[in-house]
Amino acid sequence: MIKKIEKTEKKAVLTLMICFLVEMLGLTKSLEAQIQFQPLEQATLYEVNVRQFTPDGTFASFEEHLPRLKELGVSILWMMPIHPISKEKRKGTLGSYYAVSDYRDINPEYGTMSDFKDLVRNAHALGIRVIIDWVANHTGWDHAWIKQFPDYYTKDKNGNITDPIDPQTGESWGWTDVADLNYENMDMQKAMIEEMAYWVTEADIDGFRCDVAHNVPITFWEKARKEIDKIKPCFWLAEAEQPELTQHAFDMVYAWELLHINNAIAKGEKKVKDLFKYFKQVKQKYQADDYLMNFITNHDENTWAGTEFERYGEGAKAFAVMSFTVPGMPLIYSGQEVGLNKRLRFFEKDTILWNDDSGFTSFYKKLCQLKSGNKALAAGEHGGDMQLHSVANANVFALSRKKGDDNIFVVLNLSKDNVKMRLPKSVEMGEVVQRPASVVKELIENSLDAGATRISIVIKDAGKTLIQIVDNGSGMIHEDALSSFERFATSKIKHVEDLEVLHTFGFRGEALASISAVAHVELRTRSAEESIGTLVEINDVFQQNAPKISRIQYEQGTSISVRNLFFNVPARRKFLKTDQTEFKRIYEIVKAFSLLHRDIQWVFIVDERELLNFDGINEDNFINRIEFFLGKNMAASVVPISETNDFLTVSGFLGKPAMSKRTKNDQLLFVNSRLIESNSLSFAIVQGYGDLLGDREYPFFMLNFKLNPKKIDVNVHPSKMEVKFEDERNIFNMVKAIISRFVRGMDFAPSVVLEKKLERGVSANNVPDYGMNCIIVFLLTPKTGIMMINDYVFMIGEKGLLERLKNYLGSSGILRKMKLKDWICHLMLV
Ligand code: ADP
Ligand code: MG
Repeated sequence: MIKKIEKTEKKAVLTLMICFLVEMLGLTKSLEAQIQFQPLEQATLYEVNVRQFTPDGTFASFEEHLPRLKELGVSILWMMPIHPISKEKRKGTLGSYYAVSDYRDINPEYGTMSDFKDLVRNAHALGIRVIIDWVANHTGWDHAWIKQFPDYYTKDKNGNITDPIDPQTGESWGWTDVADLNYENMDMQKAMIEEMAYWVTEADIDGFRCDVAHNVPITFWEKARKEIDKIKPCFWLAEAEQPELTQHAFDMVYAWELLHINNAIAKGEKKVKDLFKYFKQVKQKYQADDYLMNFITNHDENTWAGTEFERYGEGAKAFAVMSFTVPGMPLIYSGQEVGLNKRLRFFEKDTILWNDDSGFTSFYKKLCQLKSGNKALAAGEHGGDMQLHSVANANVFALSRKKGDDNIFVVLNLSKDNVKMRLPKSVEMGEVVQRPASVVKELIENSLDAGATRISIVIKDAGKTLIQIVDNGSGMIHEDALSSFERFATSKIKHVEDLEVLHTFGFRGEALASISAVAHVELRTRSAEESIGTLVEINDVFQQNAPKISRIQYEQGTSISVRNLFFNVPARRKFLKTDQTEFKRIYEIVKAFSLLHRDIQWVFIVDERELLNFDGINEDNFINRIEFFLGKNMAASVVPISETNDFLTVSGFLGKPAMSKRTKNDQLLFVNSRLIESNSLSFAIVQGYGDLLGDREYPFFMLNFKLNPKKIDVNVHPSKMEVKFEDERNIFNMVKAIISRFVRGMDFAPSVVLEKKLERGVSANNVPDYGMNCIIVFLLTPKTGIMMINDYVFMIGEKGLLERLKNYLGSSGILRKMKLKDWICHLMLV
């Protein structure tokens, strides 16, 4: 159906091109350029209850919310009936929106026709489409047709106009405030279509949401659509579920059944398997280009059945995620985006309070962004097919969709309880294990997650023969020890919120599974809950060798040995670099983690030699650690930083500019304590130093960025450390500003060390260690020498020597930022 719209649209443009002169083309183009609508398949629909939206309930005051809704990511507004409401047989004081007294007029409580036109125009300017509610099944009792054309209405056996009758039961629906229209009357049908067309021509609306569409003959809708199509391509939504409606008339129908299943699941009356059944039927019943409107609430549900919180409790978010990620178009009802937690009155004035104490707005904004940005989620044929996954837990609903490079994997806990589950093997993910260093990284992260305070890393042959990580963390209970090796088995998803965090750090539960697929793995573990430990040996998963499991004596904690990495993947093994390079990569990982986690004891044993052993007791041991890794000079020239703003906290250490190097080796970045790489973040930090650095000079830094994982969106490739932030520009500028402010405030005052006398021929190896804030005078003879103030070098002394130095260095007077070490080397050559 949607395709059809596009086709008509194109045809319309084509007709224009043929009919009008070339200048007209320019005009069409500029109009098109002005209004940029989001493609329908990526749209989120928003239901507007004007009466309750603002204290005065007018179009004008609703309009003030347009920028906010745009920001939220809404792209179609569905205005609940905008027409005047009948007084006769009215329900309540203000009456039901669905008792229309005049299809051509505007409800005076909301404003005027001109107000409405303004609203449409302003929504269009923001790229938001506007569809209006159309109540074709019945009118209010004081609609002019009742007197003028009584034959337009359904009569009872006494010949009196009647309210609508439920065809199933033959009884009244109870909609006593409205009169049922008679669709056997063709004049009425014609009149109705004229009324609809009026709004498209007059107010430039973009479509209709058709009330009780199932009760009006399909032939009418098909005729109406055909006529309206002649004016402009519109979007048609039926409040009904019948697939026939989507054949020629409607683009989208309601997913009522899904709502009802979900309501029942929340009550414990249905299970996830009912969702499986439902989605199977959806696939059979509907065409690929039919859209289903998915929702957790709307005006009826909210008022009559209860808010989403009454129906789903804490699960409201989980069900909302479902409505945005299963095939179709999601709906947001007025106030849903701020977690509106009350039933709005239907026949009386009520007002939505727009405070958002629980932060729902950012949640829904993220969902809208996901909907519009991830191709796999596009509606109809545009999106990825949905795969449902069985995860061995009756309360967990897992789905995946893929389109092009876009993947989405959704796991929803639809119960009140924490759940344990296994993620399915069928979801394709990247490989975590690329090289020994990636194994080391994953295993260290697991130990950190397990709350270890002592972590030992043992490697042999640069990790190619052995990588062993021993920790004193929580350990695993027997049952978990084996399942931890299953693909996508994780103990780290408990709440919906975890999913958001999950989203920020790639997929969970992959590391152990991937490692055990390409190495011989031995796991020894014991949790505090058990008195006896577990040994799991996995030898070759591809040979279908069952893992060997036994009970062993073991202290609390976990030890994982990974032997003969890539023994079964020769191509990977060949791809590894020299031992020296692979070792260096592991070393960098150990360096990074041990610098960040200074309250942890780290032991690093390389080919049976203890390379380092840092205790985790000494709070102030950073300098020792940095001295170990980067030398005394560097240790004396780093400055701790800790800066916070609303969005992030930056903490760690910055090297003073003078100690900068030509390589980027000494730049360690963490986001929420996970070691990452980010070129843009590194670049931002370097930019923050500004002109304090020379060309191609890189400072040392070790920084941990704490960000609310819900507020950022980090895209990570599961196997790589390189991350991309969603709002990269913003983060970039913020970080640059923080670093710049900090660096400029750094204390550069020299702590003076005056060496009066130094022997000639001092060698590069025994350069005295002055840190960087110092004045050093090298006296070569009693009259000649070189003075360094901070990193500026002055030459003093005899002319001849000066000339020789100048020649050699090709510069005179001040040499900027010559490294002490380099300088001494030069001196020796003089
Ligand atoms: P993830 O860390 O993403 O959950 P992994 O495959 O790395 O996935 O680990 C799977 C599970 O095994 C973890 O969720 C955790 O429950 C358990 N686990 C792994 N390593 C350890 C460890 N060192 N100590 C305790 N539990 C661990
Ligand atoms: Mg892990």
